This record gives sequence, structure tokens and C-alpha cells, in this order.
Amino acid sequence: MRDPYPVIEIWENPTPEQMTHSAETLVQQLTGPLWISIEGTDTSRCRVITTLLHGNEPSGLYALHEWICAGHKPAVTLHCFIGAVTAAQTAPLFSHRHLSDQRDLNRCFRPPFDGEQGGLAKRVLQRIESLHPECAIDIHNTSGAGPAFAVSIQLDQEHQRLAQHFTHRLVLTELLLGAFMEMTHATMPVITIECGGAHEQSAHQVAAQGLDSFARSEDPFQPTIPQALDIYRHPLRLEIAPGTSISYGREVNSGKDLTIISHIEQFNFGIVTPSQPLAWLPHSNLSILRAVDSRQQDRIKEVFHIKEQKLYVKRPIKLFMATSQAPIALSDCLFYFVLEEDHRIV
Ligand SMILES: [Zn+2]
Repeated sequence: MRDPYPVIEIWENPTPEQMTHSAETLVQQLTGPLWISIEGTDTSRCRVITTLLHGNEPSGLYALHEWICAGHKPAVTLHCFIGAVTAAQTAPLFSHRHLSDQRDLNRCFRPPFDGEQGGLAKRVLQRIESLHPECAIDIHNTSGAGPAFAVSIQLDQEHQRLAQHFTHRLVLTELLLGAFMEMTHATMPVITIECGGAHEQSAHQVAAQGLDSFARSEDPFQPTIPQALDIYRHPLRLEIAPGTSISYGREVNSGKDLTIISHIEQFNFGIVTPSQPLAWLPHSNLSILRAVDSRQQDRIKEVFHIKEQKLYVKRPIKLFMATSQAPIALSDCLFYFVLEEDHRIV
């Protein structure tokens, strides 16, 4: 089959001048996705960093730009991929996750590699496999505000140690969506880092400090600050049925099928108890929501119920990646959550 994606540029050891004075100007001058390779002290090994796979998630790019411009030398050679450049460039800058007429790049990392973004994902995977990196990290932001966490489909020591360069929270998921981190295997562990909200200074700091620790460490599986890990297992997605009318507010909007409490993002990684209303459903119609597990089973009635037109949990949950952006809540999900019994500290 014809590969629909053109050749991707590769920059070897770019100078600060080539990187321009800011991540914004760098992105604006690019013609498409970019690989940047930085030679390490040990050139016999390499690692991969991917970032901006979503065009509205710039923390990893900011960190990478700053790190390269500071003239640091990584412990081993780094190959860095900057992905959704065209979406990021589309005005206003860093506001589009992906272009509306194209697929979400970080849902394309598994066959069939359809369309332009599928072709790009396939090309990226081929290059990574040819490089034989010892590990890879994919740096993102969440669409809502909240603390940083890592996401992995494996829970062995290697994946835990990679996460610890950035954060003490690790979500272990079996929800396979075609994300790059699902390409993890024994000789190339891969994790995702969600640094926190795209507009939060704390998220940019998480990316900068984590990238520095990851790039400088002789052994990527020995982070400089090993910390106890909060592990969250078996996340579910709370999805909203297509065609549902939604709003956010502090009280019910009777003209909408669903009114979500306006401060939903404040619950990210906090406990939601059965006494906490999360939304209003004026028609008391629970079937507009789905709580989808890794087997695509809907467990909405097991976890949620409606009382006096308000949505409550039946037992404590921890939620994360809650968004107060209606388009994302509708097209992706309102939030992910784990049952409190599926949270433990190691
Ligand atoms: Zn993302």
C-alpha cells in the first residue's frame, strides 16, 4: 500500500540558533513533523522521546527546546520526535489536539495505519524500531488542570522506574486505543507522561525536570529521585452518548441533557465519595453515560446512580483527566476513574 506521508526532516545536533529563541517560533517555522537527534556521551546506546503528538500539549516541547538550547549533552544519544506540528501551528497556536479533518495521531499507532496520520505513525514506528532504543517516553498534557501522572500498560520495574523520573503517580491501563505507549515491549519499555494541564507552569516544570533526569541518567531505570509510587489499576472511561447536549455549571441547566459541575477538574486525583454530586441529569436518564472498562463492558449501573436528578457514585472512586472542555468530553471522554480499591502505594 502507498505510504501517504512525505519524508520527515531530521536535525542532527541542532544549534541554539537553529532551535530559534522560543518553542513557539520553532514550531511556526517547521513544515511538518521533525526528528531531532542529539549525540550522547555514549553513542552506542540511544533513547527516544516523543512529544506534541497532540498539537495542544506543548510542555514536552518547551522542555526539549530549553534543554537543547542550554547545550546539555545527554548520557546516551537522544532521538526526539515532535509530532502534530501542523495541528499545533493552526491558529491560535497550541490549541488544536489534531486537525478536524484528520485522525488523532496518538490513536494511530496500530494497524491499519489508515490516512495521513496513520502513515505518519507507521513511519515513526519504523524509524524507532531501526534505532533500537533502550526505552521511550511520550510526553503529553492533560486537557484539564491537575497533577502529573504516568500511564503504562505494564507494571514491571522498568516501567515504574521510567515514570519516577517525572512523577509518583502511575496509571496501569488495559484500555488500548492505539497510543504510542502501547508499542512497549521487553527490549523497549515505553510509557506516557501526562504532565498536567497545558497552561499550567507546574506542568512545564514536571516536563523540564523529568526530561533532564531522563536524559542525563546513565541508567534510565535508576532515576535520581526514586519515590514511592501511587499505582492506579483498571481505569474506566466515563463516556457521553453522541448527540447528548451538555453544559457545565453550578446548578442544573434544564435545557441540557447533562450539566456537569463546573469545578470537575478540581477532583483530579482526589477521592469522589458517594455524597458528592458530579452532574445533573434533568431527565434522570443514566443511559446517556457509559463507564467503559478494558473489555468494552459498560459498568455504569455498578458505579453510578441518579438521585433527585443528580449523578452520584455508589462507592468511592478516584478520577483523573477530567475536562471542562465540552468538545473533548463529548468526542473523547468526560474523565477516567478507578475504584478506590484499585489504588495502592508501593
Ligand atoms: Zn495527549
